[in-house]
Amino acid sequence: MSLDVLSMEGEALNACLEEMGEKRFRGKQIISWLHGALAEDYDQMTNLSKALRARLSKEAPLMLPVKERVFSSQIDETQKYLFRLSDGQLVESVLMKHSYGYSACISSQAGCAMGCRFCASGIGGFVRDLTAGEMLGQVYAMQRDLFQRKERVSHIVVMGTGEPLLNLDNLLAFIRILSDEKGQRLSRRNMTVSTCGIVPGIERLSQEGLPITLALSLHAATQEKRKEIMPIAKKYPLEAVLAACQTYFERTGRRVTYEYAMMAGFNDSEKDARRLAALLGRGAHVNLIPLNAVKEHALSAPSAFVLERFAAILRREGVNATIRRSLGADIEGACGQLRRKYADDTYGTVRT
Ligand code: SAH
Repeated sequence: MSLDVLSMEGEALNACLEEMGEKRFRGKQIISWLHGALAEDYDQMTNLSKALRARLSKEAPLMLPVKERVFSSQIDETQKYLFRLSDGQLVESVLMKHSYGYSACISSQAGCAMGCRFCASGIGGFVRDLTAGEMLGQVYAMQRDLFQRKERVSHIVVMGTGEPLLNLDNLLAFIRILSDEKGQRLSRRNMTVSTCGIVPGIERLSQEGLPITLALSLHAATQEKRKEIMPIAKKYPLEAVLAACQTYFERTGRRVTYEYAMMAGFNDSEKDARRLAALLGRGAHVNLIPLNAVKEHALSAPSAFVLERFAAILRREGVNATIRRSLGADIEGACGQLRRKYADDTYGTVRT
């Protein structure tokens, strides 16, 4: 295995260079090039000697995700990126334009082991964790494209393929590097990490005390119902997950956001809305997401009327309910769909 420079933080990289017989401060310079200037090649690092650049290219090749395809929505300004990783794996990311800026939705794993019944990401199973560098590389590719338009990524959502709290060490390195003053200086307050409810992961994240937003994929107001669509609920029951979210709030002062994908005839009744409000209590924040239909699954989104009715009940009960706009509906919006489609059509690497 060659050195994964893109995933390394300052001290570790300094030490590595020292071990290679180079000056420690070269580490700092490389970090600035990679994460500040978003260099893609050692040859761009003009304050390093030609010899060192050649040596690094050989001993520590940069394993940046390669932009395979970019799909642009005709309806809004959403862009979906398909990346190829150094071992050939495909991952997808989405760049969205909001009133408050651009947000990048990135993948944390290739494939997913969670097997949620409504999601496309788990259909082909889990392949591997992404490194911190591979997560950063997704953001950097979008950032480079935006720079050309004098814009920049200001918000990050880790809501692409994979379960980030099962790849926590790499996720934490990703967050630290992205917010580092030598890097892109992205505010941690503008970062959201979404989980299906990995209790030990939520607890560990609470201990880090980072001011990031934690989003919980709830999708059902009772343990019984949740178990039907999310196999992970058998391992981490609803009560334990909500208790972990409460701890997260107490330790970080940051309110957890609850995500609720609306599925017609399954979790969209008035009774479901009242149960949800009672479960979370006044002041909770719920993001209602009209389900993105996945061709392999039978579930679909309810009508706009049902969605609004559900939101109105929550609001009447004192819950802050927002309905998420559906962006990029014409470019395979739902998680994992693009990767699957592409893999099926072109490479045949992902199969059910
Ligand atoms: N594993 C993490 C992060 C990835 S999923 C998690 O479960 O939170 C990001 C969000 O998209 C989750 O809330 C997930 O439940 C939701 N999602 C997955 N498939 C969807 C679909 N077909 N339509 C709408 N939302 C979906």
